Amino acid sequence: MTNLVTNLAAAVEEHGANTAVGFQGSETSYEEFWGQTGAFATALEERGIEADDRVAIYLPNVPPFLIAFHGTLRMGGTVVPMNPQYKAREIGHLLGDSEAKVVVALADLVPFVTEVQDETSVEHIVSVGGDAEGATEFTEFLEPGDPDIADRADDDVAVQPYTSGTTGQPKGVQLTHENLASNANAASELIPDGIRSDDKQLGVLPLFHIYGMTVVMNSTLFHGGAYYPMPEWDAQKAISLIEDEELTLMHGVPAMYNDVINQPNAEEFDLSSVRLCGVGGSGIPVEVLRRFEELYEPTVYEGYGLTETSPITHFNSPVEGRRVGSIGKTVPGVDSRVVTDDFEDVPPVEEGPIDEDEADLDEITGEIVVSGPNVMKGYYGLPEANEEAFTERDGKRWFHTGDLGYRDEDGFFYVVDREKHMIVTGGYNVYPREVEELLFEHEAVADVAVAGIPDERRGETVKAFIVPTPDAEITEDEIREYCLTNLAEYKHPREVEFVEELPRTTTGKVQKFKLREQDDAETEAE
Ligand code: AMP
Repeated sequence: MTNLVTNLAAAVEEHGANTAVGFQGSETSYEEFWGQTGAFATALEERGIEADDRVAIYLPNVPPFLIAFHGTLRMGGTVVPMNPQYKAREIGHLLGDSEAKVVVALADLVPFVTEVQDETSVEHIVSVGGDAEGATEFTEFLEPGDPDIADRADDDVAVQPYTSGTTGQPKGVQLTHENLASNANAASELIPDGIRSDDKQLGVLPLFHIYGMTVVMNSTLFHGGAYYPMPEWDAQKAISLIEDEELTLMHGVPAMYNDVINQPNAEEFDLSSVRLCGVGGSGIPVEVLRRFEELYEPTVYEGYGLTETSPITHFNSPVEGRRVGSIGKTVPGVDSRVVTDDFEDVPPVEEGPIDEDEADLDEITGEIVVSGPNVMKGYYGLPEANEEAFTERDGKRWFHTGDLGYRDEDGFFYVVDREKHMIVTGGYNVYPREVEELLFEHEAVADVAVAGIPDERRGETVKAFIVPTPDAEITEDEIREYCLTNLAEYKHPREVEFVEELPRTTTGKVQKFKLREQDDAETEAE
């Protein structure tokens, strides 16, 4: 049985006295943590919550997140993680759709829950970090108890996260015990010796997101390591935590690595305790990776995945080898292909990454599809979306990632861009990622996103939104010139705008739809 709770129970049995969670100077052992999850599970049972009921968690990375998460699973419930940046309207949709009966929320966020409660099935609100009207405080909610682990099948839904919503209405992703447990264990296999009981993991990636939940938290807790939650990203604080606690594992999104290297005291950081740095969530610009590795000892390994795949499907592992610019090879137990619209395999290139300027990307690129024990059961209550998301072929159920990429003969995969990000300008396809990579190499560019904006003549035109480095003196014309010298003419950004920051999701993805909306509003105002 590949149950999330039995995996945790086995770690408690074997490593009971080890630290499971380290937070702001205090440490909780596996035995203590198990006791806390038992108290949360008992509290749910005493309030009439049953197996299969949903419990929403609306918290940043703090210990009660972990207790509510594993406590809910232990009594057989399903966890609905919610981004703590969401407001009433956004959680209204998630709570309504999932029919959650309990919400565990940060005290400051409870008013958003009470605002929408009437339109939902929420019966109990539990507040963390203080009292709040309409809620029971977390420690008062807990009831001492040591309930048995609920009897759940491998394909029962354990967690129902909602996809990040960089494009539209979030969909509930049904992830089963098997999906999540198999992927947390696969994540460990990609590290030399696996995750060890003396490992200490930086827990800054949000727990509501699948990367932070599976690869960072569960893979650590299933192997007796210590997890150090950080409620929010702050480069200086994260580095201090690594230095003070001598953390050994660190995962982040590219924006975090970019932030670290751009700190004024970046050269003083000591990351030598870290034995593995992982990155994913979006492609890390090669230039950022290069500068990070010039400054620090640990090598950065890029991986790839989606909420729908629990998440890891590809990883550049120290075990399997690394190729910079690639998302790595398919992880053990998972299958992947690059296919055309007719589901024909696109042949691999000899060795990647290819020089995108010379290769005809359209010819070597297709959609990445994956199959394996980590692929979701389906979107909750959305038969049409499920119809579109899967293709049955050769006895396998293939999930369409919506990402365009290619592979090479050695088995390394490369993501060119998201299908919906591709810009079609005057009949030419432009993959924003390629233009972004080039701009990252410019010394005046601290951050950049390239998006397609409407254009009467060309359909769409390429626009670069650039955050300049602090003392940079650069003009829009110079940026255009730089791109024209390095790229085919149709790819260069005809429009350039300097901005203070880019709109990002908490997991570091640039919200390109916001840039486009912003751009529309500015055009209308003119
Ligand atoms: P999410 O469901 O929020 O995890 O988002 C999944 C999406 O993130 C994928 O479909 C990709 O578009 C993107 N993504 C994740 N990892 C990478 C990577 N290493 N390179 C490029 N895109 C990535």
